[in-house]
Amino acid sequence: MEVLDKKKVSLVVEKLEKSYPNMGYYLNFKTPIDLLVAAILSPQTRDVTVNKVTPDLFKKYKTAKDYATANPDELFQYIKSIAFAKTKMNNIIESCKLIDKQYKGKVPDKKDELMKLPGIGEKTAVTILINAYGIVEGIPVDTWVIKLSNRIGLADSTNPNKIEKELEQEIDKKYWHNFAYILKEHGKEICGKVPFCSKCVLNEICLKNNVEKSK
Ligand code: SF4
Repeated sequence: MEVLDKKKVSLVVEKLEKSYPNMGYYLNFKTPIDLLVAAILSPQTRDVTVNKVTPDLFKKYKTAKDYATANPDELFQYIKSIAFAKTKMNNIIESCKLIDKQYKGKVPDKKDELMKLPGIGEKTAVTILINAYGIVEGIPVDTWVIKLSNRIGLADSTNPNKIEKELEQEIDKKYWHNFAYILKEHGKEICGKVPFCSKCVLNEICLKNNVEKSK
């Protein structure tokens, strides 16, 4: 499939920015440790489910040491409604042990250091850097970004690394920090399982819509 040219990509970004102003990260947190824990809990789990368990969890556990020394049975009770809770709990405990020992309790602010922590892949590392420290090193590519980038014509791949590179080449860096959240919102509001193309601000530009129209 072809992709949109740079001018059209800019138009897509502008239109989406206008439609979803001030979009931010969708998981609630106050501190970098909260964010790290919420981000580890997030895969394969709905945001509302994560946001439901974290208020009590964050009240009980505040520092890396709190998680590193947590009683697993007790910690599990707080997160048992989360998918793959046991694995994620172990990742939280092991990550926090490393943070406590190697980084004096501070969540690292370097991508390669974050990616050495259990349960943290590239997308999560980029997310933590943006939202905890305001360090923008990339665009986090999740399933919404993969789906919508291909539909609209922003990228032509299912490989998250390739998509990230394509998006970063086409999109002005000033939009990187929340572009993934804007796409996700657009997916939830308009371009979900059944896309409402007639109501979509991108209907004149979007490649998928134009292919459908020409059929
Ligand atoms: S035009 Fe249709 S397919 Fe394209 S982004 Fe909008 S809703 Fe999705």
